[in-house]
Amino acid sequence: SGPRPDTAPRVDSHCPYCALQCGMSLTAAASSGRSVPGPPEVQPRDFPTNRGGLCQKGWTAAAVLGASDRLVSPLVRRSLLDPAASGPAAVRDAVDTHDADPDPLVPVSWDTALDLVASRLAALAAEHGPESVAVFGGGGLTNEKAYALGKFARTVLRTPNIDYNGRFCMASAAAGMNRAFGLDRGLPFPLADLGGAQAVLLLGSNLAETMPPAVQHLAGARAAGGLVVVDPRRSATARLADDPAADQPAQGVHLAPVPGTDLAVLLGLLHVVLAENLADTAYLAARTTGFDDVARSVAAWWPERVESVAGVPAGELRRVARLLAAAAPVHGGAGAYVLTGRGVEQSTQGTATVTAAINLALALGLPGRVGSGYGAITGQGNGQGGREHGQKADQLPGYRKIDDPAARAHVAAVWGVDPDTLPGPGLPAVRLLRSLATPGGPRALLVHGSNVVVSAPNAGAVIERLGLLDLLVVCDFVPSETAGLAHVVLPVTQWAEEEGTMTSLEGRVIRRRAVVAPPGAARSELWILAELARRLGAPATLAFPTDPAEVFDELARASAGGPADYAGLSHARLDADEAEAGPGLFWPVPAEPGHTGTPRIFLDRFATTDGRARMVAVDHAGPSDEVRPGAPFYLVTGRVLQHYQSGAQTHRVAELERLVAEPYVELHPVLGFRLGLPDGARVRLTSDRGQVEATARWTDAVRPDTVFMPFHWSGAGSVNRVTTDATDPVSGMPEFKVCAVDVAPVPDD
Ligand code: SF4
Repeated sequence: SGPRPDTAPRVDSHCPYCALQCGMSLTAAASSGRSVPGPPEVQPRDFPTNRGGLCQKGWTAAAVLGASDRLVSPLVRRSLLDPAASGPAAVRDAVDTHDADPDPLVPVSWDTALDLVASRLAALAAEHGPESVAVFGGGGLTNEKAYALGKFARTVLRTPNIDYNGRFCMASAAAGMNRAFGLDRGLPFPLADLGGAQAVLLLGSNLAETMPPAVQHLAGARAAGGLVVVDPRRSATARLADDPAADQPAQGVHLAPVPGTDLAVLLGLLHVVLAENLADTAYLAARTTGFDDVARSVAAWWPERVESVAGVPAGELRRVARLLAAAAPVHGGAGAYVLTGRGVEQSTQGTATVTAAINLALALGLPGRVGSGYGAITGQGNGQGGREHGQKADQLPGYRKIDDPAARAHVAAVWGVDPDTLPGPGLPAVRLLRSLATPGGPRALLVHGSNVVVSAPNAGAVIERLGLLDLLVVCDFVPSETAGLAHVVLPVTQWAEEEGTMTSLEGRVIRRRAVVAPPGAARSELWILAELARRLGAPATLAFPTDPAEVFDELARASAGGPADYAGLSHARLDADEAEAGPGLFWPVPAEPGHTGTPRIFLDRFATTDGRARMVAVDHAGPSDEVRPGAPFYLVTGRVLQHYQSGAQTHRVAELERLVAEPYVELHPVLGFRLGLPDGARVRLTSDRGQVEATARWTDAVRPDTVFMPFHWSGAGSVNRVTTDATDPVSGMPEFKVCAVDVAPVPDD
């Protein structure tokens, strides 16, 4: 269809994908008379994170709304409607084999589907206890949905077993920040603050590919020759640092450590800072505790030792430490930032690595200062808000700890329940998935906004566990691979079909707005949870409103006084702010007259009891799955520009699929030659967990000891069949980013 008339109403909203939450305007589709309405037209708009830019995913975001296979009706396995038909166990391999499904999902009414789900949940809970039902949420859900899901799990199901896929992406950064600062907000400052920095140390983030509009905020550091990228791969972002062909006045640095050794690099950087008396001693004395222990812990990490462990030249390490120090305020610099991403966080040493990054930043006197700091680049669209409102195993709304009696009492009062009836902490995501259908483990799983069949580590084992469940219910808007295994699939609204709020990587609370009607019988999760609560006998006093504004008001009350305080916010206030060209408000926003949010936190004090940041000594131990005979190469996983997470959305966008249609493995030409794997050959990666096959791509962007594969594909091309589900002992975050594999040609049939 052609462009819409200029008179068509435009509605301001944000991209449905990543945590940059780029601002865009949407033009409502004209009524098309089809069962699936035409998608809205997307135009970028000026917003502080994207300043008018969008990546390919953003430009094409509307296409997924009109995907030809949108779910438009509840679906139930035929055998559950007709017990004489073959049972659901017979279809477990369908996700791999694509064989004709002997027990297909068939369309039913909402009443039929919800009655069936409620009766089965009630029966399981009665027979095996409330812990037999588990809930798995998502970092893409709106704040309102994440809040309602946590409340539903803890008050209606009364199960402790709720966690979400944010455990895969932000848990280590959150744990590290909570430990050091007493609070976790991914960026404790506006993203645009980076623009004035003289140096930015970016560890394990390929934002040039995952969130391209963010690159503009690195312009200052690039111009000053102060961009340092730590990544075993010469990623698009690494090339920004020191590409001699790039049009930039000074060159930064790309450090390419052996996979799994980022922590050693950080220890070495701090060693140099201390050995060369570059630390901000006045700041350390005034604003931190634990420095002496940390100083002792890095004493043995001299640069030559780091070089022997991580393969990073000692001279480069010294250069980077001096470059960062020169940019720090204590030395008269214009400011420096230390930023971490999934590359260093998705590790069994993830929390320790974040801690080491924070220690380095603290030693240089950066956090809690205007124009300098430490931050984590959140990935998922609502990765920040998704972890604040109660779908995390150990937390209640407002980022309160579930084992804190005062927090339980406050939230229980808002919910109108006895605090003693609220369950305690549940299992973090990987352990939760591993426990499914084990003796005493959950026998039913409700999945909301997550595609664990593709996105979970050691995915083959996850598929096996899902196949053993008595009940798997998946709420989604497209038939994801996980929905393909479900007993019941419930079609939900998404993005431009719904009202709500998201919280960006900066802690900025922003509005998502509806511009098109949902297709068919798709309904919001808020309505589904309310209907299930009613069917499960929740008392009338336990309200599950379906109006997102009403849910938000309750969320705001539940968060009041907590670390992530939204009490001063409402949909109406956010709308009014935007009408005056305001770009959203940063939490905390307490309910105080005139409070306009907190763009920069920690300026006066950290959120610890004494207001000082905690420095904690950590040490390098290496990855859990180290290379060895039989598995002699490192596998690193990541994303590509054109696809998002499990690909459930972006594989349904023709323009994106045309650009990158198939899984591939990047390997160095030296390795390809040695293994007899020419560019374009079929390559097989094998680990202790499983195998994956893809097309070989030669590139000198990867180390000769390392292969790289993106994780957006399922079935035989699913790299998470190979990744390890070993987790960080503090955060529970899995080690997606490095494991040991064998690399070989796919044998001819
Ligand atoms: Fe959307 Fe992220 Fe791309 Fe912006 S960078 S358009 S938020 S996917």
